[in-house]
Amino acid sequence: MAVKITQAECTSCGDCLPVCPTKSITEKGGIFKINKDTCTECEGEADSPKCMAACSAGDACIVYL
Ligand code: SF4
Ligand code: SF4
Repeated sequence: MAVKITQAECTSCGDCLPVCPTKSITEKGGIFKINKDTCTECEGEADSPKCMAACSAGDACIVYL
């Protein structure tokens, strides 16, 4: 279980990166990615998935795998 970032929708704002409780979001050269092996979909966390809640780029930006 994991979510992914749709690159065509991502504005590289960076808002999702600090809210991830599992540190699954990384940035390299302005490209943000989610590690599907460590993303838990914020299971057990309030306001989850937190990255989706933080992302203002629209519903198609961060989506469930
Ligand atoms: S769903 Fe939660 S654990 Fe997965 S990348 Fe987003 S903030 Fe991190
Ligand atoms: S919050 Fe959304 S638009 Fe901003 S870097 Fe993360 S995925 Fe991209």
